[in-house]
Amino acid sequence: MTDPALYTRDEQIQDISAQRPHLVILGAGASVASCPEGDNNGRTLPVMLDLVDILDLAEPLEQAGFASIGQDFEHVYATVAASHEHSSLCHLLEERVAEYFRGLQLPDAPTIYDHLVLSLRPKDAIATFNWDPFLWQACQRHHAFAPLPKILFLHGCAIVGWCEADKKQGLVGQRCRECGELYRPTRLLYPVANKDYTSDPYISSQWRSIRAGLGSAFLLTFFGYGAPDSDAAAVDLMSAAWGTPDARVMEEIEIIDIKTEDQLVTTWTRFIHSHHYTIAHEYSQSILANYPRRSVEAYWQSLIEARFREENPVPQLDSIDALHEWFAPLIDRECAADGH
Ligand SMILES: [Zn+2]
Repeated sequence: MTDPALYTRDEQIQDISAQRPHLVILGAGASVASCPEGDNNGRTLPVMLDLVDILDLAEPLEQAGFASIGQDFEHVYATVAASHEHSSLCHLLEERVAEYFRGLQLPDAPTIYDHLVLSLRPKDAIATFNWDPFLWQACQRHHAFAPLPKILFLHGCAIVGWCEADKKQGLVGQRCRECGELYRPTRLLYPVANKDYTSDPYISSQWRSIRAGLGSAFLLTFFGYGAPDSDAAAVDLMSAAWGTPDARVMEEIEIIDIKTEDQLVTTWTRFIHSHHYTIAHEYSQSILANYPRRSVEAYWQSLIEARFREENPVPQLDSIDALHEWFAPLIDRECAADGH
């Protein structure tokens, strides 16, 4: 007989009772962890500290009199944007960023992005601060195989366009399914202190969705997102939508990051209620890597019903087909319930 205090792997696969979302928020660290060897063509995943180098910006900056401005793109961009005589340089920085990120391609072999999108359900959501196209590309790879989570681009995305009339997003260069017009590129939000999250209709639609997601989430994961100073307004918006830690005593926050626990707790103290947080220093230790497509069910059983959870870890596999085969029992169970 099985121990009733144990929430077994088999029970977990059969259990699709949760309605509340697991919301995952990605920062640059998630893309770097997904592509340690670079993208499919070996191009490096930049972070704010090496963008100036990777995009060859030293020369145009020097010519405009910013020779000693340093390497941190956040500081570089904010300084150039604030000095109003340099609008063409500012435009050049934006063009170089957009062009570089547009050209990135998810590696062919399974990446953390593939694991992420396959490990959540349509009630869940992934919101990214990254401009790179990886989240979109991972969904394209799997959407015919599995019902996928909602995806949100909080600072825009280099390859994603938007039809304002129909409120639909799609690839830049393709046409809207509803009206046949070309999707217009979404605006990328660059690192300045006062980012505008409301006037651009696409960006404001993404933020409306994440605020709703934060309000109802049972699990909240921050993955590789360092909450930089230039994102203070974003963190304020997220904190207001999440509410005070006292109001969220049943929920669990997870942080996937290479920093130390002390550093992370300091950064995220506004979100964390006493001991209700977990820290994973790599993705394989995370909730999603161990309770794929059932994360809320598994945490509900342990946090609310006080049962022990048996893990169902997603293995490292070397092909997308093998990954699909592994996920099939979970997805078959969901589709059977939907009558497919
Ligand atoms: Zn349209």
